[in-house]
Amino acid sequence: MTERRNPMQLKTITELLHLPNFQVEKVLEQTETAIHFYVDMIESVAPVCSACGTVHHSPVHSVGWIRVEDLPLSDKRVFLYVPKRKLHCPQDGRIRVEQFSWLRGRFTSRFADQVYRLTSITTNAEAGWYLHLDDETVYRIDRGILEELASEKLFPVPTPATMSVDEVAWQKWHKYVTNVVDIEQRKVIWNHHGRGKSTLDAFFKALGKDNSSTIDAIACDGAKGFLSSIRQHAQNALIVLDHFHVKSYLNDALDTVRKEQLKKARKDKNTDLADLLHCRKKFILMQGRPSDRQRNILDQLAELNDAVYKAMLLKEQFLEIYRADTRKAASIGLGQWITAAWRSGIPAFTELAEKFHRKRHFILNYFLRKITTAISEGINNKIKRLKRMAYGYKDVHYFLLKIHQHCGLLNPRLQLKYE
Ligand SMILES: [Zn+2]
Repeated sequence: MTERRNPMQLKTITELLHLPNFQVEKVLEQTETAIHFYVDMIESVAPVCSACGTVHHSPVHSVGWIRVEDLPLSDKRVFLYVPKRKLHCPQDGRIRVEQFSWLRGRFTSRFADQVYRLTSITTNAEAGWYLHLDDETVYRIDRGILEELASEKLFPVPTPATMSVDEVAWQKWHKYVTNVVDIEQRKVIWNHHGRGKSTLDAFFKALGKDNSSTIDAIACDGAKGFLSSIRQHAQNALIVLDHFHVKSYLNDALDTVRKEQLKKARKDKNTDLADLLHCRKKFILMQGRPSDRQRNILDQLAELNDAVYKAMLLKEQFLEIYRADTRKAASIGLGQWITAAWRSGIPAFTELAEKFHRKRHFILNYFLRKITTAISEGINNKIKRLKRMAYGYKDVHYFLLKIHQHCGLLNPRLQLKYE
């Protein structure tokens, strides 16, 4: 271990590191990849107890030191050796070690902040790779900061003017979390594990009765539980059946028809039709506006299979409704669509016709408040990405915090209006 004592150099490094009331005493070691500094207090001040958080003037019991990592200098990792005093804590009568506000466990606070900034834009695994930290260390720092920020920033819950509520599966076998998005602010403002009425009730409870009654419009998937919670707590809110969900109901119905007909075609050994209906072709059926080549395939479909063709036309017809300018025009279009779907005799679509008839007011409310669902869709995609990240989020609490970190109130980039 080389030891250097150059007062000029140490003064410069001290200024560079800029630690509160600490100066560099020695450069303990310098390698290709790291520099190790021994630091000590500039002015002796009474220690702050790590157990009770107050200053004690009791005599120092002993002095030890810890090694902490700081931000890199010139692409070298920086390690600081920091002396720490032990003292008698009058609160609990035990020997306790002192704490420094600029340290966070085995890291400087600014290093931990760096970890947090990285985990806010990328996966924990990638942040760890970048900073030479193992997954467990990244997890501990990230979670620690998230929990601290959560206690400051998640309450009181801000009242949205317009909001959307949606559930996401976070594990197989019916485990869900519910997220509430402030549509204007474009962020998740509240989330909780579970779904349905009792979960959304908890949101309104957190918001309070008065605030809940000021919400202007709410977009949701039209599920019973959410509807009854909204009716009970946010009586003044216009309920809009989410654009995105309406379209996904439609795609599901179309896919059901496709699968049924594919099964039938295979059974009948109708290879032309089976080939057309094979899942590789599925994307064509899902697209709103087919190209000429795809149109050709659709024409073949029209000849070969009536049910799928009809289903496809029903889908196209439905998408037309959303191009209407007024609620009235949309209402006429929806009425015609429901009749056509009924008459098709295709079970998946007669069911859908019934559903859309029941929920028609919510579908048409979109033409009164064009709550854009692109935001929740964008957020849902981010959440899906989060789920794919390392740490499978076996712990739902951490998953909820990560959602806030990436798309909600704990995102350090949220001051930027547009991402
Ligand atoms: Zn104490």
